[in-house]
Amino acid sequence: MIQNSYLDYAATTPLKPEILALMAEVLAAVGNASSVHAYGRDQRERVEHARRTLAGHFAVKPAQVIFTSGATEANVMAMKGIRAASLIISAIEHASIMAPAVQAERIRVNPEGMIDLNYLEELLKALPQPALVAAMLVNNETGVIQPVKEVAALAKRYGAFVHCDAVQAVGKLSFTFADMGVDSLSLSAHKIGGPQGAGALLLKARTPFQALIEGGGQERGLRAGTENVAAIVGFGAALKASGQDLARQEAWRSWRDGFEAEVEVAGGLIMGKKAPRVATLSCVAMPGVPAETQLMAFDLAGVAVSAGSACSSGKVKASPVLTAMGLGDVAGSALRFSFGWNSRQEELAKAATIWRDVAARRKSPAAA
Ligand code: PMP
Repeated sequence: MIQNSYLDYAATTPLKPEILALMAEVLAAVGNASSVHAYGRDQRERVEHARRTLAGHFAVKPAQVIFTSGATEANVMAMKGIRAASLIISAIEHASIMAPAVQAERIRVNPEGMIDLNYLEELLKALPQPALVAAMLVNNETGVIQPVKEVAALAKRYGAFVHCDAVQAVGKLSFTFADMGVDSLSLSAHKIGGPQGAGALLLKARTPFQALIEGGGQERGLRAGTENVAAIVGFGAALKASGQDLARQEAWRSWRDGFEAEVEVAGGLIMGKKAPRVATLSCVAMPGVPAETQLMAFDLAGVAVSAGSACSSGKVKASPVLTAMGLGDVAGSALRFSFGWNSRQEELAKAATIWRDVAARRKSPAAA
């Protein structure tokens, strides 16, 4: 019998034990990676080893990897640092793209949550170039895979720059930087079994870019601040280990499909169902029942899930992503179930049972 269950991997994943062990060793070591003595050089080598791991994984040069405190910082760096004449972002971007680009034009998405390329072309025609276009690879609320390659190819025809938030894609899709055809790409360690507080911006050589954080000249002057060596090491190790997750996608897809089949029979609406989606996320609406009510029922039953965007600090409000998909009231009744490396199929089965119970109680309140 399962007691508690964590089904909120899209918010953050548990740290893989081998990465925790590795990080503990690094945390116990002294040395600033910028120091010239042996302690410093050891730390530098740890950082550069992780940089080579990232570079190898995404097929870029090590000099194109800028370590940051996470994807929020990498996204803000791209939106504020890349010198562009106008900004275009998709209507379903993460808050860390939206907030530094309040003046941006938004690319519409279709009801399945996919970027509308025709609309993007209209914007590219109308706005001063070079524009900066931001399009995420996998949406964090629906799991819908976006046509980033097509976005980049189109944007390039108009001379625009393209930034891609690939946070939710790593370990789920196999891709390189060049595959995407973008100028910059942001990553986060804690969505792939690594630590919170580590991320990176991959930046194409010769992109006109202004550093956001100035100081000691670390990261080739593009992001100052003493490197968080343990977190960077953990990030590199997590990326290496993400291949194991990639290999499990098809099995995980069948777990998710089983879950979705059960909730659909009981009236659940799957967001983005007809679009290509990653395997480990399911966003389900229970029309007429506020997400908050459902969330509490799950929490009482010991199952952790999320409503709307988990990144909005405990506030439950209608998700801007689902609203942009034109879902109206349904947007306020959707929960996100996401899982990964340490999940078990029974956890999804239990979630489906709770979902059906909540839906049944709603239909016949007297039985509640
Ligand atoms: N982009 C997306 C799509 C995300 O899901 C998140 C995490 N919620 C971020 C960016 C921010 O990443 P971090 O937590 O590393 O700042």
